[in-house]
Amino acid sequence: MTTAEIREKYLRFFEEKGHLRLPPFSLIPEDDPTLLFIVAGMAPLKPYFMGAKPVFPGHEGEHRRVVTCQKCLRVGDIENVGRTARHNTFFEMLGNFSFGDYFKKEAIAWAWEFVTDPKWLGLDPDRLYVTVYKDDDEAYAIWRDVVGVPEERISRWDEDENFWPAGAISEGPNGPCGPCSEIFYDRGPGFGSPDETGPNTGSGDRFVEIWNLVFTQFNRSGPIPGEGVLEPLPQKNIDTGMGLYRVAAILQDVEDFYATDTFKPLIDLVAERSGVPYKGALSVSHRVIADHVRAVVAALSDGATFSNTGRGYVIRRLLRRAVRHGYLLGIKEPFLHELAPVVAELLGDYYPEMKEQLASVQPAIRAEEARFLETLEQGIRRLESLLAGLKEGDVLPGEEAFRLHDTYGFPLDLTEEIAAERGVKVDREGFERAMREQVERARAASAFSGDVFAAAAPALERVFEDHGATEFTGYERLEDEGKVLLILQGEAELDRLEAGQGGQVVLDRTPFYAEGGGQVGDSGYLEWPGGRARVVTTKKSKQGLHLHEVEVEEGALAVGAAVRAVVDPERRCTEKNHTATHLLHAALRAVLGPQVRQAGSLVAPDRLRFDFTHAAALSPEEVRKVELLVNRWVQADFPVSWTFMPLEEAKKAGAMALFGEKYADTVRVVKVEGSPDTAGILEAEVRSMELCGGCHVRRTGEIGYFVITAEEAVSAGVRRIEALTGEAAVRYARDLLDRDAALARALGTSLEGLPQRIEKLQQELKQLRRENEKLAADLARAQLGGGGAPAVREAGGWRYVAAAFAGLDVPSLRQVADEILERYGVDLVVVGAGGALIVKVSPDAVQRGLAAGQVIRALAERTGGRGGGKPHLAQGGGFDVEKALAALDEVLAGL
Ligand code: ATP
Ligand code: MG
Repeated sequence: MTTAEIREKYLRFFEEKGHLRLPPFSLIPEDDPTLLFIVAGMAPLKPYFMGAKPVFPGHEGEHRRVVTCQKCLRVGDIENVGRTARHNTFFEMLGNFSFGDYFKKEAIAWAWEFVTDPKWLGLDPDRLYVTVYKDDDEAYAIWRDVVGVPEERISRWDEDENFWPAGAISEGPNGPCGPCSEIFYDRGPGFGSPDETGPNTGSGDRFVEIWNLVFTQFNRSGPIPGEGVLEPLPQKNIDTGMGLYRVAAILQDVEDFYATDTFKPLIDLVAERSGVPYKGALSVSHRVIADHVRAVVAALSDGATFSNTGRGYVIRRLLRRAVRHGYLLGIKEPFLHELAPVVAELLGDYYPEMKEQLASVQPAIRAEEARFLETLEQGIRRLESLLAGLKEGDVLPGEEAFRLHDTYGFPLDLTEEIAAERGVKVDREGFERAMREQVERARAASAFSGDVFAAAAPALERVFEDHGATEFTGYERLEDEGKVLLILQGEAELDRLEAGQGGQVVLDRTPFYAEGGGQVGDSGYLEWPGGRARVVTTKKSKQGLHLHEVEVEEGALAVGAAVRAVVDPERRCTEKNHTATHLLHAALRAVLGPQVRQAGSLVAPDRLRFDFTHAAALSPEEVRKVELLVNRWVQADFPVSWTFMPLEEAKKAGAMALFGEKYADTVRVVKVEGSPDTAGILEAEVRSMELCGGCHVRRTGEIGYFVITAEEAVSAGVRRIEALTGEAAVRYARDLLDRDAALARALGTSLEGLPQRIEKLQQELKQLRRENEKLAADLARAQLGGGGAPAVREAGGWRYVAAAFAGLDVPSLRQVADEILERYGVDLVVVGAGGALIVKVSPDAVQRGLAAGQVIRALAERTGGRGGGKPHLAQGGGFDVEKALAALDEVLAGL
């Protein structure tokens, strides 16, 4: 049975039991910032276990029974990959779910039916074992009395094994939880470790857990850690997870899932590419590569990108680990990207995004592995030499591990893994200490950054406790009154700043926008009776206090003073650019497709920049379309509105959020909406809704004019657009027009005539070049013929012609040499002009041992100059031609 058939059977079985089949969810959790990747089939369905109404887009009514095949990525199992026969990082979990509908009896009976009935999986019941939570008599009784599993094959386990989340009763977390029950399959004595006698013993590869049924029936409350109180939930749920690949290995009767149909082509390709057969100790590397490349392709296809933090770092680690195992197999150039199409082929029928995104995923992988390979070799050498000085049982200092991380990009786990191969441990604490120290050094090095705030944390905390976060009024106005609550100078807290001094000032209320969300911090000035301070920029502390970086120009600024805070009017331009960024985002999605995702942005007063995921460069037509669309929305003068609402509500309404960005519970949603009906001139309506704390114009018309100035690559799969708005855009366009007009004037034509004029000039130039070449050849011929036939001379037994010319370039010189050789039938020709020298030898003379390269080198040695070439043709420069020709007799005689 193929893996795809097993998947389909599962989905169909539960459809027949009244379940709604849902397509897989993205690997990247949609609204769970605490989770890097989806780790189980239930993860994307969490809200329905907590009581949210189970309604699904495209399906009428409520659905309390759902079945899925969900892609999962468990970073926690990374160490197990390749070493156990049952763990992947990326794997597929089949699951049937009940949201307050059926419970234990049905879940257990159906699981048994599906696993044992020959119509479905048909596994031998005599090989199956089940476990239950020690106090779950209800489940025990169902297995024994309803299903008929013999008592000796049912075992009871404690909360560490058979409770979800594991150990939750005594350690938390609080929230929904419950006992679980697992099904194990005995693969026989040939598998696993010798001490394996049943479920949860030994290595776990003989008695393999294939399916876990979770009965979410309690709510835990109480201290953490500490004995929790379990109260029954009003709604009892079923959450199950069956490992697709584990079952496939059993049904296909192969050693492990690496030999099943969804892995084998990858393993084979690794073996072929490396020339290392898949067996023995090195086979771990084949498996690690096959596993990790699948995980990387899956994550990238769902919009993750390589980076140094969070999710991006996880996939970077996976990729680096795979590269390193390739290296162990002797593959020293980028090759993982060659596996990506195979992954897409193997998984793309069920997960079409893997096929759709391949065009951008593959180059991203290639670029990333190439970059890592560059430093890998040096890093390995460095680590090897460190390890050479250590013996088994020793500890590698943390600072060294950190240096490998810092200089060679070695993730800690990679260093640990290589060290472990020699029985050496790595000092993790030392590593983390070194990491912290470096972060602190970096902070100290930047004068005004988050760290200044860290140093001044107690003062900021106090101000925050007394007054709350700074009240920001800048969405509406550029001027406001505020009171000075705190003055900092780096770490120091001051009472006042005198004229000429600089520092950071916190006001209770301010119209100054603090840097964030891609928008730069505002500049401007503070004014009070008798004084004035320039505000260079504004940043925000983590408490939400705006810190104005000021330089006092006149008077003294003291804590408690009332000031007038005035933002530079250029902020209005920032607002234009920010709203334009949202419109650009919407236009890109309209023109290129909804898979376009924002990957970063910069909103400054004088320009904007927008990075987004897209495989290829935009064509000039696409750039034109995007620009035109934005300008149409600008001209339609749509209202821009913003509201504050709970995060959940905003997401439900479809507001676009940024990957990896943490949002507060209450978010600001900025909306631009308009349809062709109201505007009359639009091809496409705009529906832009983004979570955004930035400053915006009130109507799109304020943007005035939008022009794209550049479209370029940032990294593989990420493009960047730079653009201008308002007056800056008008000036830009005017400058271009002026420049073209000046060009046209200089070329004696009109603006419209410019392209034809340039084309004509280019043609004329080509023509002139051709004529020039012809003239040069004629000139050479004339010089040759003018003084009668050139003398055919002889030296060292070789007949030759030598001649110097005036005003010939190298190509003409070569042509002349050809002609002479043909016309006079000599052994060699040496011609020169203006320092250049050509030596040409007839094929016949080459046969007899004469080499042009040798001649020119001998000439150079004797008279100065340089040159070289093949036996029949050599060329050189820097010669005194007359002198070289005069030395020819001697040189030929001496050969
Ligand atoms: P194990 O103890 O074997 O690691 P688990 O208890 O972590 O398994 P669950 O969290 O209950 O597993 O997940 C449900 C099912 O998903 C398991 O029964 C198994 O079939 C499958 N599964 C879990 N982890 C992996 C993995 N890393 N690779 C492949 N399949 C897995
Ligand atoms: Mg596990």
